[in-house]
Amino acid sequence: MTRKLYYEDTCTKEFDALATACGQKGEHFLVTLDASAFYPEGGGQSGDRGILILQDQSEVKVLDTHEKGEDIVLTCSGPVPAGERVHGILDWEFRFDRMQNHTGEHILSGLIHERYGYHNVGFHMSQDRVTIDLDGEIPEEEIALIEKKANEVVWADLPVRVDVLPQEEANQIEYRSKKKLEGEIRLVTIPGADVCACCGTHVARTGEIGLIKILSHERFRSGVRMEIMCGRWAYEYMEEIFRQNHEVSVHLSSRLYETGKAAQRLVEENARLKGDLTGILFAQIDRMAKELEGAGDVMLFAPDSDSRIAMKLTAKIMETSGGSVFSFAGSDKNGYKYAAGLTDGDLRSLVKEMNRSLNGRGGGKPYFQQGSIQAGRLQIEAFLKERYPEITCSVFAIS
Ligand SMILES: [Zn+2]
Repeated sequence: MTRKLYYEDTCTKEFDALATACGQKGEHFLVTLDASAFYPEGGGQSGDRGILILQDQSEVKVLDTHEKGEDIVLTCSGPVPAGERVHGILDWEFRFDRMQNHTGEHILSGLIHERYGYHNVGFHMSQDRVTIDLDGEIPEEEIALIEKKANEVVWADLPVRVDVLPQEEANQIEYRSKKKLEGEIRLVTIPGADVCACCGTHVARTGEIGLIKILSHERFRSGVRMEIMCGRWAYEYMEEIFRQNHEVSVHLSSRLYETGKAAQRLVEENARLKGDLTGILFAQIDRMAKELEGAGDVMLFAPDSDSRIAMKLTAKIMETSGGSVFSFAGSDKNGYKYAAGLTDGDLRSLVKEMNRSLNGRGGGKPYFQQGSIQAGRLQIEAFLKERYPEITCSVFAIS
């Protein structure tokens, strides 16, 4: 049986113990100690990590910790023979992150339970965030309010009390629990915010949590799934967002707290310019169609344009030129989008042949074909000149 030092004082970072058993599992070693400050995986919280220093001062890494019956078993990088005295040192940042997040989760779940009567039906802690599943929906506009209330509990720096009570005594108290418990019950109390049966490790005072941030909330089954971050995780996340916002403010020449408005102005301006540009382009296409009136067969290249321009060019010019029109938009490097048209004509077999010879694909109506080809301008010109010796070749450039 292992003495659970993490319950006697959750802030124990180093301790001495005796190895009582050592087995091998794959490339790792499963070491049992007579006492452990390493917390075993449980209640949604990961097992602790750290190192063990042996009598000859050599070290083995503790990669994970689990509970097995009455024992705490450490997954280690090397063997620790039974009878060996060890000095254990926890990866404290790893543990403290989880204590901040676990306690923050209690505060949020407790406040939500009190306000809406919902239960926390799923709790998961990953490498940098916590997921909470609740069995009811929270109105969108109240999320910020709950987050603020949770942070007020942090600012109040309340003591986090842990009581291990006999079942009958615990049942006199109203507490949250995922399942029906029997025997001794470990109650974690945050005055005014939460009472919850829990086997995890928590900070001693709520002030140590630092910050509680709700990142997202979405419908999940018949309730809601929330992603939260507390403590250092939340700080580092917010720090990155601050840095991003600072960059945006520099690019948009706006104040840090007005980047949203500045971005909106930019998007509107962009849409307006796009509209203006389309107007200019279409007017230019109309002019080109006039210039090519009666020109007969025409091939056009629109460097670095897109399929929309190719289609518009062909559609307009085939009304005036009186022959077959082939427009190619793009570049030799990235290939061309094409549109081929002939009023009341049928270009299907020609386009099929073009696709075959110039590595292309496409199709459409007999009189209007469109697609893309992966070939250079010289190859395209050669292909069409062979079939239309009199064809006019022109370039459409925005001016
Ligand atoms: Zn808990």
